[in-house]
Amino acid sequence: MSRCPKCKYKNSENYKFCSNCGVKNDDTRVSCTYHFVVMGSGGVGKSAITIRFVNRHFEAKYDPTIEDRYQKVIDYQGVLCVLEILDTAGQETFSAMRELYMKNGEGFVLVYSITSQRSLDDLEPIRDGIYRHKANSYVPMVLVGNKCDLEKKREVNTKKGKELAKYFGFPFLESSAKFDLNITEIFSSLIDQIWSRSGGPPTEKKKGRCSIL
Ligand code: GDP
Ligand code: MG
Repeated sequence: MSRCPKCKYKNSENYKFCSNCGVKNDDTRVSCTYHFVVMGSGGVGKSAITIRFVNRHFEAKYDPTIEDRYQKVIDYQGVLCVLEILDTAGQETFSAMRELYMKNGEGFVLVYSITSQRSLDDLEPIRDGIYRHKANSYVPMVLVGNKCDLEKKREVNTKKGKELAKYFGFPFLESSAKFDLNITEIFSSLIDQIWSRSGGPPTEKKKGRCSIL
């Protein structure tokens, strides 16, 4: 038995990749774990975005009531990032569960669909809820107008999304989980925000909450 130096999971002897966090056994890169939460009203594509990012395929049908955790290990600018992603279902309004993930989340993806003005309107109370649950006011977030492949059904023009993001004070992207547009960028934007706050990517000397494998 051999423990993963990062997450302490017990793997078999001479394992190659940790079965819990996916980190390579002999990897010497700096490694960081971040907890991200994907939020927005039902049907906007939260699950499709998450699954596209994690599994690289498009999910045409996904149970709207499922709330799921995913893990994806990426190399971002030479740093091994273990991303724990919570794909929320929105069924747990005001529950202790919601409070917990708002408190623990280190970055939030606020998703609306460009085919629904209402889904954009739904995001302001969500954003306010996140700030309420955070002790400090700086919270990495990104506003995402998904389903940008459905141009004919568009209800929210790009300018409107941009303006709301500007008002909120965080980055804006239009994405398509279906055609894999701007999906990776959503998550790297959150990492960028975390790093710009801490003065750049983590290094061996400046580890912060990260670890060296
Ligand atoms: P959620 O409730 O926010 O998790 O939404 P889902 O991910 O379950 O998506 C709802 C529906 O929209 C599903 O039928 C998806 O296939 C579809 N969908 C999600 N993203 C896109 C997209 O980028 N383009 C198109 N055309 N459909 C999408
Ligand atoms: Mg879903």
